[in-house]
Amino acid sequence: MPISQPASTSFADKSFWLSSAPYTPNPSLAGDLTVDVAVLGGGYTGLATAYFLKKAEPSLRVALLESEVIGFGASGRNGGFSMTLFGLSLSVTASLFGKEKARQAHHYMEQAVELLESLVREHKLECDYERPGFLRVATTPLYAKRIHEEVELAQRLGLEGIEWIDAEATRREVNSPLYLGAWREPRCGLVNPAKLAWELKRLILSMGVQVFEHTPGTAIERHAGGLLIHSPQGKVHRLEARPGHQCLLASHSHAAPQAGARVHTHRAHRAAAPWALR
Ligand SMILES: Cc1cc2nc3c(=O)[nH]c(=O)nc-3n(C[C@H](O)[C@H](O)[C@H](O)COP(=O)(O)OP(=O)(O)OC[C@H]3O[C@@H](n4cnc5c(N)ncnc54)[C@H](O)[C@@H]3O)c2cc1C
Repeated sequence: MPISQPASTSFADKSFWLSSAPYTPNPSLAGDLTVDVAVLGGGYTGLATAYFLKKAEPSLRVALLESEVIGFGASGRNGGFSMTLFGLSLSVTASLFGKEKARQAHHYMEQAVELLESLVREHKLECDYERPGFLRVATTPLYAKRIHEEVELAQRLGLEGIEWIDAEATRREVNSPLYLGAWREPRCGLVNPAKLAWELKRLILSMGVQVFEHTPGTAIERHAGGLLIHSPQGKVHRLEARPGHQCLLASHSHAAPQAGARVHTHRAHRAAAPWALR
């Protein structure tokens, strides 16, 4: 199966975050390697996968291949909000999937926010993490009504910690006359997303994961002994996954998985989401 990868470029000019600290990539893969699990893609999905695999089974041989540098994709270019919001609002989720699913989705995101913070603290990840909480402010009466209704729905669903604050209370938080009120939720962290990715790399390296940067997976091939992942660099560029062991595509929208049973694809919708993938 041939797989696509982003064109090779310098990374520091791709986002403010990617230029916010010096970064030295790991060497490329050069030669053969045998592993139990191969992870393609060094964003949060791949990094979280490698972390949780090694945590669950320290003897696993895990290698992560990144076509550019760790954090090159969305993980090094996002807004840096670790929050419970995901693609759909609470009311849209409830109307599409029912109230129970909306409640579950919110609880899932709560776990993700808490877990990311506990990882940052436990492993002393230097990623400028802070937890200021979240205000979703209303600038028009119509928007104020919508936010107010969302807060009421959250409370009817039994979700804790979310409240509507009026214009005066909002102004005490942010001194602007424009805001008519806000959704306030303490469960929201801010992070430098590129530093988070690079610190996660440091963490998984310390656990024994092998990380190869500037190492695109160009094709995945089945053979009697398992899967072969081809990469163009060095003399022999392939990584062999043993029978019964795994290859995980964590390359976001870049790679199209077609190889079948032992190839797993994960795509994180929000930066916080991989932390709940346990
Ligand atoms: C503008 C923007 C703002 C966002 N803001 C937020 C936010 O505030 N909060 C939040 O929670 N989420 C946010 N997100 C979403 C979040 O960034 C993503 O959900 C998350 O980063 C996805 O991580 P990932 O590992 O799945 O993908 P990516 O981070 O894209 O990682 C995929 C990696 O795979 C590599 N790759 C691709 N092809 C290959 C190959 N063939 N071989 C090897 N490697 C390969 C890429 O170079 C890349 O590094 C935002 C996203 C964007 C775009």
